Amino acid sequence: MALAFNPLHVTPEGGRRGQLQLPHQTVETPVFMPVGTAGTVKAVPQDTLEALGAQIILGNTYHLYLRPGHEPIQRMGGLHRFISWPRAMLTDSGGFQVFSLSELRKVTDEGVRFRSHLDGSSHFFTPEHSMDVQIALGADIAMAFDECTEYPADRPRAEESLRLTMAWARRSLTHFRANQDRVPWASDFPGSSQSLFGIVQGGMYRDLRRESAERLLEMDFDGYAIGGLSVGEPRDLTLEMIAEVLPLLPRDKPRYVMGVGYPDEIEQYARMGVDMMDCVLPTRAARHGLLFTSEGRITIKNRQFAEDQNPPDPNCDCLVCRRYSRAYLRHLMQAGEALSGTLNSIHNLAFYLGIMRRVRQSLEPACAPAQV
Ligand SMILES: [Zn+2]
Repeated sequence: MALAFNPLHVTPEGGRRGQLQLPHQTVETPVFMPVGTAGTVKAVPQDTLEALGAQIILGNTYHLYLRPGHEPIQRMGGLHRFISWPRAMLTDSGGFQVFSLSELRKVTDEGVRFRSHLDGSSHFFTPEHSMDVQIALGADIAMAFDECTEYPADRPRAEESLRLTMAWARRSLTHFRANQDRVPWASDFPGSSQSLFGIVQGGMYRDLRRESAERLLEMDFDGYAIGGLSVGEPRDLTLEMIAEVLPLLPRDKPRYVMGVGYPDEIEQYARMGVDMMDCVLPTRAARHGLLFTSEGRITIKNRQFAEDQNPPDPNCDCLVCRRYSRAYLRHLMQAGEALSGTLNSIHNLAFYLGIMRRVRQSLEPACAPAQV
């Protein structure tokens, strides 16, 4: 069996409080997934992620394939064991990074040839190869190989991109189903297996989004993602695409919007019925000294914080806000200390995970009056 998804309660607005049962973790949804690009959520140790309540983290197939390589990771028992992460994981297909990071890429129907951004070496990724790499890494959830349509894209370009993504989705699924029993932890979890999600594309065209969703549903994936969003489009367009696709997706499968967003966005989408989201924003912003707080964003290196002995966020009880002051975080940043990125990242992740915890509580049915 792959995953099981139970929507425990659905609000009139479509928000879902659910449970996603994966081999390594039962994930309470809606959930925010910190991004662990190269086998690490940058600057934050795994035991701290556990203490923060992270239930599932991402790994990036492109980075792990190039370094240290999926084959050594497979020989060492898979990504969970290699990085010592006992809870759930999801890997992306590598497509997004191939298109955004690599050099000299050439796309054909067969796949993508590209040069590594690390050493210029030449590689060829196909849907089948992406599945082999993701099965070797062994995350609980793998993603179909897709082309993330850029923004803006005119209609012929979006149609052509969608044609390619749908053909690659079919090939991904066929190859995955034939090989998914080779996942490194198969013998540790008898009866359970890795899952594969399809990715809805279609640019910013509502009818192409619908067509994409309908065709993926016919293929019958374990869950469905909406990709190609937060790529530079205005936010009302992001919202429009999500609103178009969500009602088409099956009730008993998880729904994942990839690569979003700001704190208010993840709350808004969760209330609309999105179960899973990921974004590099909390950790990337943290390394640049941008903190998300209950009172808005603050730039910690600003001079105004030089002697500010208040916690970064007075309404946050994370392990950073309980112990350290704004003045100290500013000093660490000014001095270029490594601890700066760590503490800033821990607070921002706590803030994101806290939003989702509160959204989950608010999506639960109100308690029935006590019987007298
Ligand atoms: Zn905090």
